[in-house]
Amino acid sequence: MSNHASFFENVVHNVDRAAAMTTHPPGLIDHIKICNSVYHFEFPLRRHNERGEEYYEVIQAWRVEHSHHKLPTKGGIRYAAEVNEDEVKALAALMTYKCAIVDVPFGGAKGAIQIDPSKYTKEEVERITRRYTHELAKKNFIGPGVDVPAPDYGTGEREMAWIADTYEALNPGQLDALACVTGKPISQGGVAGRREATGRGVFYALREACSNADDMRELGLAPGLAGKRVVVQGLGNVGYHSAKFCREEGEAIIIAIAEREGAILNPAGLNEEEVLQHRRATGSILNFPGATNIPDSRDALELECDILIPAALENQITGDNASRIRARIIGEGANGPTTPEAEAILVGRGVLIVPDIYANAGGVTVSYFEWLKNLAHVRIGRMGKRYEAAQERRIVQVIETVTGKRLSESEWAMLSKGPDELDYVKSGLEETMVLAYHQLRETWKSRKDIPDLRTAAFLIALEKVARDYMELGIFP
Ligand code: GLU
Repeated sequence: MSNHASFFENVVHNVDRAAAMTTHPPGLIDHIKICNSVYHFEFPLRRHNERGEEYYEVIQAWRVEHSHHKLPTKGGIRYAAEVNEDEVKALAALMTYKCAIVDVPFGGAKGAIQIDPSKYTKEEVERITRRYTHELAKKNFIGPGVDVPAPDYGTGEREMAWIADTYEALNPGQLDALACVTGKPISQGGVAGRREATGRGVFYALREACSNADDMRELGLAPGLAGKRVVVQGLGNVGYHSAKFCREEGEAIIIAIAEREGAILNPAGLNEEEVLQHRRATGSILNFPGATNIPDSRDALELECDILIPAALENQITGDNASRIRARIIGEGANGPTTPEAEAILVGRGVLIVPDIYANAGGVTVSYFEWLKNLAHVRIGRMGKRYEAAQERRIVQVIETVTGKRLSESEWAMLSKGPDELDYVKSGLEETMVLAYHQLRETWKSRKDIPDLRTAAFLIALEKVARDYMELGIFP
């Protein structure tokens, strides 16, 4: 693999490595690897310069559906100035494998608009988003059973609400119209816990990886996430929530956080919320009280630590810096942060890489729950919450009778609240991430020729997608 392979070529490289361990006919593997539909389009945006004069800008946009073996296809929409078709294809392909690993019944897709959203007014971003949705609808590239976008780098709940609203306007009376997009605000059909889902999933993934005493011994680490020194690259939605849950629920220590403008280090531990507030107030994470500045944020990746969480963009850990990375575990919050050259170096040094197509699958997993909620037209847990609470109360009453001890009001409230939507979402996500990790690890350890978790992940995904194609009768 050359140093200059494209992102999509890197994904194909990973698929090929796993495919070499299967007995599927080459035609089937070739069919799985390619992107089924690539839609590139342009549309004009009317703007005004400082003198109030009107001009038009041409906006580049894409939607790529990688695999139609299951419908709808699913994946986020990225707003970034540097985005290109190869990147969207790579990200769409990763979505296919990601969904297969966590048993989310979708094919993979990804969309992008080539803009830096900070250079546009809110009204312009809204117009761009609505026009993009129109263009997708015209070509049947969006719909609850066709292709369902979600947030990604540079987009969030606001954009998803505009997409849902535009789609509904174009499809009046369509009962399931809200399921055309996920990651919506809760008031617009979103689900509790979607915003933090990817970061929460990264936490569950790392907690599982760290719980295996044998694997930790091989890395020279004690079992458990508690006390592990973590470096996080990116304080966006994924990085922020990965840090938050690793710190709050996993008791890890966030020793450094890197952003575009630089990085900060404090071996005693950083609080991501305070750092975010500081960045909002000053425009930079640098000069955070008690922390040391690292002017070049790339240097943060090379800090001495136990866990590195790249949660920004692709191609961050490359053949150039891999030999200087000192983390023992890498938890890939971003998509494609590690190139194959870097991976070969790191795996050779015994570093445990928890791969993106598993580690960041929490987002699409909870998107799946949101989609189900929209199709069911009922808040998750609405039917059972009171019933469960009554059951819990009966059990607590029996405990009080048997022990002769009266529980306090707060103990009563805690033990008999009944599950709400967020409880179900968290429980469904945890179950998904835990099961998938053990499947990955067992596959990795089951064969001497599987060098790492990523190869195991691609192998599992490939087997599932191939089986679907066979069952469809497309390949005998
Ligand atoms: N953009 C996210 C990802 O890369 C979420 C996709 C989704 O929820 O459909 O996994």
